[in-house]
Amino acid sequence: MTRLNWGMIGGGEGSQIGPAHRMGAQADGNFVLAAGALDHDAQRGRDYAQRLGVAADRAYGNWQEMLAGEKGRDDRIDLVTVATPNSTHFEITKSFLEAGFNVLCEKPMTMTVEEGEEIVKIAKSSGKICAVNYCYSAYPMVREMRQMVANGEIGKVRVIVANFSHGHHGDAGDADNPRVRWRYDPAMAGVSGQFADCGIHAMHMASFIAGDEVKEVSADFASTIASRELEDDAMVNFRMEGGTVGRLWTSSVAIGRQHGFEIQVFGETGGLRWHAEQPNQVYYTPLGGRTQIMEKGEGGLSDEAGRLSRVAIAHPEGFPMAVANIYVDLAAAIRGQAHGAFPTATDGLRSMAAVHYCVESARSGGAWVDARPALLR
Ligand code: NAD
Repeated sequence: MTRLNWGMIGGGEGSQIGPAHRMGAQADGNFVLAAGALDHDAQRGRDYAQRLGVAADRAYGNWQEMLAGEKGRDDRIDLVTVATPNSTHFEITKSFLEAGFNVLCEKPMTMTVEEGEEIVKIAKSSGKICAVNYCYSAYPMVREMRQMVANGEIGKVRVIVANFSHGHHGDAGDADNPRVRWRYDPAMAGVSGQFADCGIHAMHMASFIAGDEVKEVSADFASTIASRELEDDAMVNFRMEGGTVGRLWTSSVAIGRQHGFEIQVFGETGGLRWHAEQPNQVYYTPLGGRTQIMEKGEGGLSDEAGRLSRVAIAHPEGFPMAVANIYVDLAAAIRGQAHGAFPTATDGLRSMAAVHYCVESARSGGAWVDARPALLR
């Protein structure tokens, strides 16, 4: 099967997420990096793209040049990944969808709910794929938990407790560092800091595993470092359409925690627990029974967990392979083949609504607020 042409915007040399996309997209031979506008500095972007093997005429200085250049080509890119800072996602994603390209956008998909709704509508009318990189949902053992819930193995889900809390912005003396400061500046980050950055991953995963959507939120946001306008710590209570109760804590001042993404799902007849720092294990406790540790790669897991496991039991895979699992299903979808789930623009929109309504709730003393975007009510 011929490889699909892939393009990337952002994710330049030294960026945080760029390498995971390059490893993920190219891991299975589905995509080849054919075009890129990789850096905010045009020359650095062109140089780096060529060092990665992109032809000189497709190593672009910015995304507008890339759009113009790719539009007219017979071998135009089949998929573009948008891995730039948040405030640019909307304009780039919209422009590429409107020009008939499939897009994988980094989270958060947009800065506002209105922009999110516009992307969902454009994706629908263009008939193109718009995916959002909630890559944690593609870990094999997260798929296993989702399947167990869908099979009724823990009964109806009563409570979900999620947290995504790290301590990397916990140093008040470093709060003015430009690499940290922008995340808490409304002009750069929008209405939310930590919740929009990390909390939405946890909230997406709660919906993904439960097979249900968030209906209402009640939030308490705090800026624990006084110079910050936006929150660096948030506690969000939520209720799902099916009645599941949710508790979500997200923080960037939790000194001692490294990554801290953990989810616990408590049903009527059992409980499940997964931690992103040990992604190969799920802890499963049946009602009245002992806790069992389920391992990625062992026999008896769901087809989905098996399909997305790449190396033998006990060998680590990790984050780039979760990203690769998103690309596997995108490649199949682009080729018109059967494919598994990947997060779409609708998920991106639900996150933007959650951000917006959590802010509204926090500003009104934690009042319960309907968290569903108008387009999806
Ligand atoms: P970063 O600051 O480390 O890197 C950003 C890159 O984009 C840099 O190479 C920069 O030169 C380039 N860039 C900036 N503006 C550009 C433009 N207009 N055109 C082309 N290139 C441009 O940022 P990061 O941490 O890699 O984050 C990028 C995005 O990925 C953010 O939206 C972030 O939320 C998201 N992210 C997602 C995950 C995840 O788990 N899904 C993890 C980390 C980051």
